[in-house]
Amino acid sequence: MLDQPSALIDIRGVCRSFPKGSGEQLLVLEKVDLTIRSGEIVGLLGRSGSGKSTLLRIIAGLVTPSSGSATCRGETIVGPPNGVAMVFQSFALFPWLTVLQNVELGLEALGVESAERRKRALVAIDLIGLDGFESAFPKELSGGMRQRVGFARALVVHPDLLLMDEPFSALDVLTAETLRTDLIDLWIEGRLPIESVLMVTHNIEEAVLMCDRVLVFSSNPGRVATEIKVELPHPRNRLDTYFRQLVDNIYARMTQRAEPRAPTIEGIPGTGIGMTLHHVSSNVLSGLIETLAAPPYRGHADLPVLASQLQFEADEILHLGESLQLLRFAQLSEGDLMLTEAGTRFAHLETDARKKLFAEHLITYVPVMGLIRRVLDERPSHTAPAARFRNELEDYMSEDYADETLKTVVSWGRYAELFAYDEQSEMFSLENP
Ligand code: ADP
Ligand code: MG
Repeated sequence: MLDQPSALIDIRGVCRSFPKGSGEQLLVLEKVDLTIRSGEIVGLLGRSGSGKSTLLRIIAGLVTPSSGSATCRGETIVGPPNGVAMVFQSFALFPWLTVLQNVELGLEALGVESAERRKRALVAIDLIGLDGFESAFPKELSGGMRQRVGFARALVVHPDLLLMDEPFSALDVLTAETLRTDLIDLWIEGRLPIESVLMVTHNIEEAVLMCDRVLVFSSNPGRVATEIKVELPHPRNRLDTYFRQLVDNIYARMTQRAEPRAPTIEGIPGTGIGMTLHHVSSNVLSGLIETLAAPPYRGHADLPVLASQLQFEADEILHLGESLQLLRFAQLSEGDLMLTEAGTRFAHLETDARKKLFAEHLITYVPVMGLIRRVLDERPSHTAPAARFRNELEDYMSEDYADETLKTVVSWGRYAELFAYDEQSEMFSLENP
């Protein structure tokens, strides 16, 4: 019998929870299975908060699974495994060390002696296009050059597996594209001293451009919902028909609706008070409604097309689309965004009438808005502290998400003139009780 190439990383039935603000557990990863073999670039694509970084940190030995098994070459991962290196979104360089010293650092931990260290660091620096910058300090470098240092530091240890957590997302569009292309070129030429790459991204095009397989993560809790093979030779052309089809296909999968988990408050339709509201300004929402209503879309847009026209990333356009859907101004389906009748009406109204319509939809479709408004109406003082609602939200979500949801509530509620909010005292009040 032929041996399958043995798995470098094997993740079986991994679950992980974290304590929520209220002290209960939030299930972030649920029964995740994932295998990484030698010779492949695997992409992990999912919405923000779906647990991608957590999974990467489990593989890097920085977080332990709550249950299930995580192995590297057949051995359970306890602490950082040999042969696994990571590149972070935020570069994570030491500002007081030069480029050369930052790169050598990866080898110091392995006990490589100093002449050898220097030699290997210089090779990695040369490979990644930093020749001549050895003695520069991070603050003297552009973002793109800093991230090259991040790559050199990971590559210098010749890891079997390179983990990358949104490595291009802090860079401007052109710099990111240059760095992606350089990396893929080195990979194809077999010049990278690595065997496999696992890359987290929320950029669909980036995943299709670089990866052999893309795993699409679902949210709440995170699990691998689907796997898509990208059988296109490098260098890949973004305009290629098959490339576009794959991007469309992934958009469609990412807009399939997950079942809402949080209960709804009696009498109020919607997805429940425990729904996370992503912070999207009401200006951006009304701008998007206008764009959708106008030609060439006339109420119906393909998300990838819309994202590229408006220069949004997949994650951002999905947040926007979901917010419009939540408010019943648009509907997401199979990778398309369509205005509802109310959305079309909104597009043609004057400012004051828009605010009124927005207010009606907020009260009807966003349970936490209805709750705040009711509490303010009922209290003789017509005021209530934000903490009253934050506590309630934290029964359903982490503190970070409760904060973001409240921030969104405040900015949408202000736009709709549903209530006033004082930042100093963190108090809600009725504007005209
Ligand atoms: P992603 O990388 O997909 O954006 P993360 O893995 O960073 O997602 O986070 C997923 C969820 O887990 C979020 O709700 C986040 O708040 C929560 N989370 C991650 N790490 C911790 C932690 N150390 N403590 C509490 N909650 C955490
Ligand atoms: Mg992350």
